[in-house]
Formats: sequence, structure tokens, C-alpha cells
Amino acid sequence: MDIKAVVFDLDNTLYDYDAAHEAAFRILSGYAQIALGLSEEEFSAVYDAVMQEQITRSGGAYAAIHNRMIRFQMILERVRKPILYAPQMSDLYWAVFLDACRPVPGVREALEALRTEYVIGVGTNMTADYQYRKLQRLGLLDFIGFMVSSEEAGAEKPEKRLFDLCAEKAGCAAAECVFVGDSLSHDIKGALDAGMSAVWLSPPPGHIAEPKPAPDGVPAIASLSELPGLLRGLRGI
Ligand SMILES: [Mg+2]
Repeated sequence: MDIKAVVFDLDNTLYDYDAAHEAAFRILSGYAQIALGLSEEEFSAVYDAVMQEQITRSGGAYAAIHNRMIRFQMILERVRKPILYAPQMSDLYWAVFLDACRPVPGVREALEALRTEYVIGVGTNMTADYQYRKLQRLGLLDFIGFMVSSEEAGAEKPEKRLFDLCAEKAGCAAAECVFVGDSLSHDIKGALDAGMSAVWLSPPPGHIAEPKPAPDGVPAIASLSELPGLLRGLRGI
């Protein structure tokens, strides 16, 4: 197999999204208690409801569904509080989130090894701004040759359009790209549908369990440090 590019999902693939979100959400929940008079349970319930409404309102296929400023504004509208709190909530959320961002074990070494042989890219569902900030904070930006966010592609994974744009930026055929991600429904399905190969980074114990195992022929790895060796194997060298 000829592999020219390796494209990574970002959230929960290059760093632990769940841990960073949890840390940010905890602080934000404290803020909501003091500033908005919402209990932890009330804030959590309104957050979940609004996240769902954000998807329904926009039709679901737009990167704006991930925009936290819009999410916090919608929360404030729902609980009938002034929208002047929205920027504060967004700033607080992202400050804590970025501070809590940690690269997954082995990611630097893997990228270091891979970049000598492949074009490295990121294909991610989210608005561009904060994906750049995360990569910057993780110290991984200088490894990344190209970036495709769903905001730029105008399509969310698993839509083919996002993967097509990845291959276009990689400067090779989709069949020469390997997509690496933690989500079977977004990353693996989308990559295979677009004609790429895929490697599944299986979520660590304790994280939300995927409903089914990886499809036949899709290798699963527990750590990115397994990736350089796995790709050499796939190329038959
Ligand atoms: Mg992910």
C-alpha cells in the first residue's frame, strides 16, 4: 500500500478532550452558580438541552453547532439572564480548557517519526480558531502540514467533502491517505467512505465506549506510539 499522508482527528485523538472539557465545565458550573444562580444540576441540564437545540436549529451539519459563544448565549436566553455574560463564560471556558489540554502519550514522538516520511494533516469537526489554539497550546502546530476544519470544509465528518478537502490539501489521492481518529462513526466511517484507509485509536478505558468494534480491515491501536510501526507494516517495509 502506498501511503503519502497521515491525517489526524484532533479531539480525543491528539489530546484528551474529555478531561479538558470536564475541567472547564466544572469551573463554568461554579460561575453559573454565583453569577446566574443556577445549581450544578440546573446548569448541566440547560447546557445539554441547548447543545441539542444548537444542532436542531442549524440543521446539524454546520461547524457553528460547536461554537461555545453561541451555546452560552442560548443558555442565557433560556434562563432569562442578560447576554452580557456570554463573552465572560466563553473566555472562562476556553481559558480553563486550554490550560487543561494535555497531549496524549507518545504523540510528539509519533509525529516526529512520521513527518520525515509523510505529509501530516488534521481533519477536525469544529470552528478553526480554537482548533488552532489547542494545537498551539499542545505544542503540536509545527508538526502539522495542513489543517481542515469542518468550518472551512462547510461539512462535518463523516461527510465526504471534509475528507476530499484533506486529500486535496495533502496533494495526493484519497487512497494514499490514512486517517487516524477515535470515532468510528465520524472518523473511520467518513475516511472509508471517502476512499481513505483508516486507523482507529480505541478510546482508553473509562471514556465513552464505542457501540461496536472497528470494521473489518481497520487496524486498532491503543496508543499513537504504535502508529509509525503499524504504517511501516501496511506499506510492507
Ligand atoms: Mg475525536
